[in-house]
Amino acid sequence: MYLGKVVELAPTEELFEEALHPYTQTLLSAVLEPDPRLMRAKKRITLPGEPPSAINSPKGCRLHPRCPYATEACSREEPPLTEVERGHYVACWQYLRR
Ligand code: SF4
Repeated sequence: MYLGKVVELAPTEELFEEALHPYTQTLLSAVLEPDPRLMRAKKRITLPGEPPSAINSPKGCRLHPRCPYATEACSREEPPLTEVERGHYVACWQYLRR
């Protein structure tokens, strides 16, 4: 969930193995690993900037001002939460037909 909107929904195991939404990938990259070797090898993903106010969310995709994959379309229209694989829903134009 980002700024009050569900951006990805999937069975737990699938979500941890193959998160699709850039925000989910960012969150999961921050999860600590109990094994220090795995933790050192883990690639941390960070987003630039600060989260905007939830009462004045950006138009289009709410993540677009901070998303490294944002395109013009992302700032124009909010992507709907759509099933892209069986039981795996994502709200991101990267995975949806325009
Ligand atoms: S819709 Fe665009 S801005 Fe939003 S997460 Fe997907 S690529 Fe990034």
